Amino acid sequence: MAKNVCIITEYRNGDFRRVTHEVASEGRRIADALGTGLVAVALGSGISAKAPDLGKYGVDKVYVVDDPALEYYLAGVFVPVIAEVLKQLDPAAVLLPASVDGRDLGARLGARMNVTLLQDVIEVVVGDDGKIKAKWPMFSGKCFAWCEWADGVPPLLSIRPNIMQTQLLDESRKAEIEAASAPIPKPRASVLKYELDTSGKVELTEAEIIVSGGRGMKDAANYAMLEDLAGQLGAAVGASRAAVDSGWRPHSDQVGQTGKVVNPNLYIAVGISGAIQHLAGMGYSKYIVAVNKDADAPIFTKADYGIIEDLFTFVPALTEEVKKLKNS
Ligand SMILES: Cc1cc2nc3c(=O)[nH]c(=O)nc-3n(C[C@H](O)[C@H](O)[C@H](O)COP(=O)(O)OP(=O)(O)OC[C@H]3O[C@@H](n4cnc5c(N)ncnc54)[C@H](O)[C@@H]3O)c2cc1C
Repeated sequence: MAKNVCIITEYRNGDFRRVTHEVASEGRRIADALGTGLVAVALGSGISAKAPDLGKYGVDKVYVVDDPALEYYLAGVFVPVIAEVLKQLDPAAVLLPASVDGRDLGARLGARMNVTLLQDVIEVVVGDDGKIKAKWPMFSGKCFAWCEWADGVPPLLSIRPNIMQTQLLDESRKAEIEAASAPIPKPRASVLKYELDTSGKVELTEAEIIVSGGRGMKDAANYAMLEDLAGQLGAAVGASRAAVDSGWRPHSDQVGQTGKVVNPNLYIAVGISGAIQHLAGMGYSKYIVAVNKDADAPIFTKADYGIIEDLFTFVPALTEEVKKLKNS
């Protein structure tokens, strides 16, 4: 029987993270191209109740390890459990999210399985020869590599969030559930608590729209203007490294090579020049709007829409227009 494609899920605060739906949809597409099934390995506390829902996104069967010890990702606990389940399943390929936890998990799994992990994959195809080939950005997106694995080696790929299309197959489709048998090791460290940001801010890596400010903002206080626009658009606020290094924004807001990689539908870059290290973090946004008073700023070579204007005039005017539209 043909081997199945397998995904590793990510579960937080009582539900699967959106990126898990994206990975499942991509897994389904690959499984269909290979003419095989799609299974998932799901670890978490209280995860069994939600696991059948993965069927909507194309998963046929979920191997669940449901235990209070699995509430938070801990490498020393998750890696041996997942590695053991994968050994039993012997899948054709393994896909997981290239999230903060997924990158850590993927690298460790690759070492355990003696398989090369392709991190942060942005495109996957199945060739006429039935081989999986994956596209991967190198040197902060300056070039791309297409890779394939040797015969008999299961491809292991982490998928960049917000890149793959989520495919909702059928609301009523349920995945079959089976309890996976793998011993849960005693953790050598434990998470005491997670302090969630309760400000109601939209998480950057999951945001559909991002309004991002750079050195052109001139001062921390001026970000109130971007917060206002973001509030109207339901957007998250990001920043360039120059803004973070100036102490105007926290590092958690930084977009770029040494910050977060984001792929929103709309990225509005305000007072950002468009250095290669910044583009490495947002260059895959579906639409890029740049606001900059310098017509020669490099960001305009990447932008779909360029506004050559003083941001202190343009941003409040745009916010007013959005407000008017929303009230009309
Ligand atoms: C190893 C390494 C890693 C790095 N990682 C990152 C990273 O993760 N993220 C990142 O962002 N950078 C990173 N950088 C820094 C990067 O090279 C740039 O220095 C940085 O992105 C510049 O930020 P900026 O565009 O906000 O500032 P600037 O380059 O100074 O650009 C400011 C822009 O604002 C415009 N402007 C000024 N006033 C106004 C106004 N009133 N109205 C409209 N426009 C105005 C200017 O025309 C200018 O284009 C990294 C650098 C290195 C070496």
